[in-house]
Amino acid sequence: MRSGPGIYFHHPACLSHDPRAQMPGHPDTPERLMAIEDALTAREWLGWERLPAPAAQESQLELVHTRGHVLRVKEMSQAGGGAIDPDTFVGELSYLAALHAAGGACEMARALTAGEADVGFCGVRPSGHHAEVDRAMGFCLFNNVAVAAEFAIRELGTGRVFILDWDVHHGNGTAEAFRRRSDVLFASIHQGGIYPGTGSLADVGSGPGEGYTINLPVPAGSGEELWLSLLEHIVLPAARAFEPDLVLVSAGFDAHREDPLAGCRLETDSFAEMARHVRDAAATLGAPLGAVLEGGYAPAALAQSVQATLAALADEAPARSAAPEPILTSRAATHIGRYWPL
Ligand SMILES: [Zn+2]
Repeated sequence: MRSGPGIYFHHPACLSHDPRAQMPGHPDTPERLMAIEDALTAREWLGWERLPAPAAQESQLELVHTRGHVLRVKEMSQAGGGAIDPDTFVGELSYLAALHAAGGACEMARALTAGEADVGFCGVRPSGHHAEVDRAMGFCLFNNVAVAAEFAIRELGTGRVFILDWDVHHGNGTAEAFRRRSDVLFASIHQGGIYPGTGSLADVGSGPGEGYTINLPVPAGSGEELWLSLLEHIVLPAARAFEPDLVLVSAGFDAHREDPLAGCRLETDSFAEMARHVRDAAATLGAPLGAVLEGGYAPAALAQSVQATLAALADEAPARSAAPEPILTSRAATHIGRYWPL
């Protein structure tokens, strides 16, 4: 039973995580989500069906995370909150918010693999892609996308999952979770030289996972031509050859030119173009596509970019092709082309 253009998962608990209680001026605010929802409400949610993001079971979190990590976050939250590192905070309601963020991603994976929709989006926070197996970091408590991917493989019978991370920061937590795995292809385009400092082109995974990690760092100032070029000519040819059964996107919007935390120059419509490319690849493969919110710290730009992404995931406009960038695309091709037909 397919309902409308797509399914959107959210929960009011995700608004109750507010790191400003411990660090005034922290960029990860509930207002980020409120801006997204206000913009979508003004457009009648583009016809998307809104569904509640359920709380994850602890057993779902433990598909990726250690029991110790889950308990540390839970106990810190129950004790009233505290700092995990200079960027990452837990408040009294943060554990509940994080359960709904990860649970929404899992429920989206379930609904998509059950054929209830072709595309989905989780408008949840805290974000997840920096969270490692045994450590919260970079505003992230639990790795929502990694938990959803593992849940799909272990509980839903999904064979292979392709994860694209287009947040401007490297998805170190997701990369580490699947570094030695060949049933998850992880590809990240990110600004090099900024937080968290990982994600070099030469890091292609290890052991049985060698070749199944694609890291594409780009310089500060990079704009749509380079991002689209790497997506079209490096990432998606590899993803097509991988033949995933499920496509997940760690959808951060902090590569936007207005974002205060990084120095890339994507426009609002650049995210729509990336979404169209991924949408077309997923459709060709017959795989459903679900995106989970990561970063994006200029609330107005974030809201417009999410709206543009949702519209693009469900429209039929052709994706705009970008020429191979002469230096960076060919350098990436020499590394990634050893493993995939580009
Ligand atoms: Zn980010």
